[in-house]
Amino acid sequence: MPDIASWKKLKAELEEQNVTLIAVSKKKPVADIQELYDAGERNFGENYVQELVEKQPQLPNDIHWHYIGHLQTNKVKYIAPFVHLIHAVHSFKLLKEINKRAAENNRVIDVLLQLHVADEETKHGLDNAGVMELMEYYKAQQADLQNVRICGVMGMATFTDDDDQVKKEFAEIKNTFTIIKDTYFMDKDYFTQCSMGMTGDYKIAVEKGSTMVRIGSMIFGARN
Ligand SMILES: *Cc1c(COP(=O)(O)O)cnc(C)c1O
Repeated sequence: MPDIASWKKLKAELEEQNVTLIAVSKKKPVADIQELYDAGERNFGENYVQELVEKQPQLPNDIHWHYIGHLQTNKVKYIAPFVHLIHAVHSFKLLKEINKRAAENNRVIDVLLQLHVADEETKHGLDNAGVMELMEYYKAQQADLQNVRICGVMGMATFTDDDDQVKKEFAEIKNTFTIIKDTYFMDKDYFTQCSMGMTGDYKIAVEKGSTMVRIGSMIFGARN
């Protein structure tokens, strides 16, 4: 069961700072999502394609579904009809596939570029050189990529008690966001999002300029 009181408090705290809350509902039942929806939440985040595709038809149509997990190219087609924002684009190949599947559904899909700053090898994402290379490909082929819209970046800090390291990593993500904005999206009003921060580190993320936090266990309780 979601902790509605904690959610309300968190939501108010974030709203004051113009930060969007994504309620991460992975591995939680449809009934829990419905309960939080009834309390007023509309942004939910999921990590697994199959789980999302099973849940989506059982829940209200006006939910904004955020795909926050590692997305494989061959699975884009399953979420393309309804996904609101894909947080973790890690390759140009994936960007092209999202564009193709969005076009088939007569839509434009919003995406964020996933940056890798954490120490952990297990975390995915682009390093600074990789993201600039992707942007150069995008710029060169933009005319053929009209069904995908790059709205910002997403990143995760290292899982550590060392707050200074977490601060440094979030600052690095924000810095890369600013460089991409200044280099490629100067005249675009939609390149605005910096998705960073989870239950354990969202306060630091907000302090470092996050515009979107992805929070699961604080709202829905621990996952198995
Ligand atoms: C699970 C997950 C979250 C939420 O994590 P909590 O610690 O439960 O808040 C956020 N972002 C991503 C990418 C996740 O996989």
